[in-house]
Amino acid sequence: MTIKESIKTNPTGLIARAFRFAENAHKGQKRKSGENYFEHPLAAAEILNRWRMDEATIAAALLHDTVEDTPATLEQVRKEFGDDVAFLVDGVTKLGHIKYRGTQEKIENLRKLIFSISQDLRVVFIKLADRLHNMNTLKALPPQKQKRIAMETDEIYAPIAYRLGMQNLAGELYDLAFPYLHPDKDKWLHTIAVEHFEARRKYLEKIEPEVRKMLKEHDIRLVSIDFRAKRYSSLYQKLLRHDMDIEKIYDLVAMRIIVKTIPECYAVLGLIHEKWPPLPGRIKDYIAMPKPNGYRSLHTTIIGPDEKILEVQIRTEEMHEENEYGIAAHWLYQQARSGEKMRSKKTAEDIRWIEQLKNWLAYIPSQQNEEQGGADSEEFLQSMKIDFFKDRIFAITPRGDVIDLPKGATPIDFAYQIHTDIGNSCVGAKVNNQLVPLSHELRSGDLVEILTQKNKKPSEDWLKFVKTAIARDRVRTALRGKNSFATSVSAPSKTELRITTENRLGIIKDISSVISRSHVNILSFHTPNSPGGSHFSLHKIECATTDKQKIEKLVFKVKQIKGVREISYKLE
Ligand code: MN
Repeated sequence: MTIKESIKTNPTGLIARAFRFAENAHKGQKRKSGENYFEHPLAAAEILNRWRMDEATIAAALLHDTVEDTPATLEQVRKEFGDDVAFLVDGVTKLGHIKYRGTQEKIENLRKLIFSISQDLRVVFIKLADRLHNMNTLKALPPQKQKRIAMETDEIYAPIAYRLGMQNLAGELYDLAFPYLHPDKDKWLHTIAVEHFEARRKYLEKIEPEVRKMLKEHDIRLVSIDFRAKRYSSLYQKLLRHDMDIEKIYDLVAMRIIVKTIPECYAVLGLIHEKWPPLPGRIKDYIAMPKPNGYRSLHTTIIGPDEKILEVQIRTEEMHEENEYGIAAHWLYQQARSGEKMRSKKTAEDIRWIEQLKNWLAYIPSQQNEEQGGADSEEFLQSMKIDFFKDRIFAITPRGDVIDLPKGATPIDFAYQIHTDIGNSCVGAKVNNQLVPLSHELRSGDLVEILTQKNKKPSEDWLKFVKTAIARDRVRTALRGKNSFATSVSAPSKTELRITTENRLGIIKDISSVISRSHVNILSFHTPNSPGGSHFSLHKIECATTDKQKIEKLVFKVKQIKGVREISYKLE
């Protein structure tokens, strides 16, 4: 049922009321493409409707731009539609304040922010639907904006969709961004790939009857066979790894066989292997060992008729659906099983799972990584142990940069985090466009603007409420009338990392390259001789930074290196 149809069925329901409210609020506004603005929230809501999200989510999608772009206020939305919808609209509005400009170290902060202000994943779903529609209408915007939005989609939103298990959406977003980010490559890819796609498809169509016949002979209930063409963006990534030789891409078009039950999946795999030999090392059992994002399927690459190599994917209907809808499908099943409303009745276990997922998402690099299920699982387990969000908040500068702070931090902490001079000359602060006292406690997603005045000195009172060590230090330094460099004689000037690793060839190179990629200079690298026969080494590395945030990030990255067992650091 489309939204307009469901409004006809229930003209006084939540969705119908949100429809009228938003349509009215956006009246007279046009998009750059010339269409009525309301077409946009309606399209986003329609996408969520297709994902079969609940009423509140769809209503919030209809309303998602009203607070930011029309005279309507959040309070009005709350009064008309209740706390649940208002919370979702507010979350989406806050996400809209973030502008991603592609500096590497900001990506992690951004992802953390996205997941910490959307304590309810439905906010992310709305944002993804919003983004999908914006990407589909990106043509109308000026080139500069197209590029920024496409980059943000490629580096932030598509990976998030992927990690939420929404493979299809992720692929769509990557593909939509690709021509804006790589116009030349896009053209080239189309010219070389079109023929190959066609040839592969014809080949698969030729052997399809054979597969059908074989399954029938063995009483396997076939739901469907289809052909999945590889996405352009992921084809390009793969070509990069295969000398740009399209002949080496075996899954350009894959055959997808959908059956009723898991035993039938394995039976199909067996039958196929009996008829056509599999390539060694390319059989993947994502049913017994799902990918960390929940993806389940059997994959195999076989040598088919005429010695041609092709990929076959085998799964059940339920898996197929979950692979499309990801985490949203998971909620759907919960809802169907319990027969109750999805949000209020989530079990404790589900919530824990979502919490862990959020933590994990915050740390995964932004690469589309379909091949390496194994490495992913390891990272997953690793990051499950990190309880990251517990004590952190993420506030935003007027430029859209994200500042990572401890819970309870104030505008003063925020100011010093940006720059010592801004902290020292701070005279006031606006949070979400309202003046607040300097002791005001910031919350995740707050838009913070620091008001400064030249030649201003910090006040001693600030020491009573600042939360970060950096703010406290700088305030004290300024009160003593010295600048921060003069005191650095006694203050720490470097950091020593101590890393215990397995003895593996190349590990020192791996560690030092991670450190230098984090823009930290190595002052010395020392690996004392370990006792004879030991499998482990201790490395002591002096680094030229005392920036705790930087070090903490570095520590996390070093932990990801294969063979690293333990790491600690101290400021010296
Ligand atoms: Mn929007």
